[in-house]
Amino acid sequence: MNTDCIFCKIVAGQLPCCKVYEDTDTLAFMDIGPIVPGHTLVIPRMHVDPLMAAPPEVLQKLIVVVQKIARAQLKAFKADGINVIQSNGRAAGQLVPHLHFHVIPRFAADGHHWNWIPRPYAKSEEMGALAEKIRGALE
Ligand code: 5GP
Ligand code: ZN
Repeated sequence: MNTDCIFCKIVAGQLPCCKVYEDTDTLAFMDIGPIVPGHTLVIPRMHVDPLMAAPPEVLQKLIVVVQKIARAQLKAFKADGINVIQSNGRAAGQLVPHLHFHVIPRFAADGHHWNWIPRPYAKSEEMGALAEKIRGALE
C-alpha cells in the first residue's frame, strides 16, 4: 500500500467507496465524478502505476474485470456502447496515480463529446518514421 494514495486508502477501507465488484486482486467502484452516470473505476488492489510498470499477471486479471463490468453496464443500463479509458501521467490527464481503468456506459444521446481532433501528418513519411521509432523501442 502507498499511504499517500487515495485508491490504496479505498482498497484498505480507510476511505469509503460505492463498490460494485471485488475479488482477491481487483476492486470496481463508482467514480465520484462520472462523465456519464454509471461510470465505474476498475483498479488492482496492489499499488502500481503507471500501466507500463504493471506486471502482466496483474493486467491479465484487471482486463477480465473490465470486461465483466462493461458487460454488466450494457445489461443493467441497456447502454448503446461502452468506453474504456486508461490514462498515464499528468500530460495524459491522469489525476490519481494508481493504475485504473474507466468503464463508461454510453448512450446515443448522453451529451458527452470527446475533444478528439484528428490532425493528419503533414508529410507522408512522418508516420512511417514514427512507426520505425516505436518498432525500434519495442522490448
Ligand atoms: P484519472 O484522471 O486519474 O484517470 O481519473 C481519476 C478518477 O478518479 C476521476 O474520474 C475522479 O472522478 C475519480 N476519483 C477521484 N477521487 C475519487 C474518490 O475519492 N472516490 C472515487 N470513487 N472516485 C474518485
Ligand atoms: Zn495506490
